[in-house]
Amino acid sequence: VNEFDIIARYFDRPCRRDDVVVGVGDDGAVLAPPPGSDMVVVTDTVVAGRHFPEGTPAEAIGHRALAVNLSDLAAMGAEPAWMTLALTLPEADPAWLERFSRGFHALAESAGIDLVGGDTTSGPLSATVTAIGLVPAGGALRRGGASPGERIYVSGTLGDAGLDLRGLLAGEGPDGHDRFLYPTPRLELGRALRGLAGGVIDISDGLLADLGHIAEASGVGARVRLADLPLSAAVRALEPGDARTLAVSAGDDYELCFTAPPSAEARLVALEAGVNLTCIGDIVPGEGVVLMDEHGRDWHPAHAGFDHFNGGAR
Ligand code: ADP
Ligand code: MG
Repeated sequence: VNEFDIIARYFDRPCRRDDVVVGVGDDGAVLAPPPGSDMVVVTDTVVAGRHFPEGTPAEAIGHRALAVNLSDLAAMGAEPAWMTLALTLPEADPAWLERFSRGFHALAESAGIDLVGGDTTSGPLSATVTAIGLVPAGGALRRGGASPGERIYVSGTLGDAGLDLRGLLAGEGPDGHDRFLYPTPRLELGRALRGLAGGVIDISDGLLADLGHIAEASGVGARVRLADLPLSAAVRALEPGDARTLAVSAGDDYELCFTAPPSAEARLVALEAGVNLTCIGDIVPGEGVVLMDEHGRDWHPAHAGFDHFNGGAR
């Protein structure tokens, strides 16, 4: 199979949206954004051996390459619309491409996003998705919107993806590690938070690092009650310090962390966004993120989060 066979067989799919004027097949895509909306543009790359271990199932790589981008759109409160895919492959392996594209297109379909172009090259395995989402004009959610007096919330549970990755790296095989391999972008929640949340971010690098970005962008401090972190039974079964370190710094959970005023509590409880929300702390004047144990003492994890240019850790 050559480059054009790959595109035609695995990536040139009919577009479902009627605002795609020209999709795959020309020198560029032509899109007609609906009037009255802002476009939110995100891009994220996944690299073999860096974002997922060698030997990760191709279907999961396809899912993940898109999921991490959809998670960014969710954090901005955007509705996914269009995307491009730049794929670099060590070889043209039809069985691998079949599985990769199955994982990729299944998530695309469920999110209502159309693939309108891309690039296909040979080299070390990586996939870059650029996704565009829509919000009502002026309605995008931001990291910098948090204010003192607001409460801090997270969706779902934290630390599961880190625990899954640990299992994969220990050679446990790909089954039962879905929170790492198949993250769920919280799109419905992100849209529901428009007009309700102060600061919003998705948790890719770990709660401590990502809540730190909200605090910094908003010019505020954050106080987190460790005892209130939402943990799954599997994470709760670990040694408590280990469980907390995974929950605050392993990352890859792709849950949303956001702030909202106490007056929003009733509306948050009423949200049916397909995921649990847990209040874990408060926004305060000042700066930085303080993690408090059950005795009210500051607690520090063994490592703070993921950093590509610092040996993979902070
Ligand atoms: P050009 O040489 O003009 O840059 P290409 O030969 O790279 O065009 O691509 C041909 C068409 O196929 C373009 O419309 C491009 O957007 C699309 N395309 C290439 N690779 C992919 C891919 N992995 N997924 C989706 N569309 C792709
Ligand atoms: Mg061209």
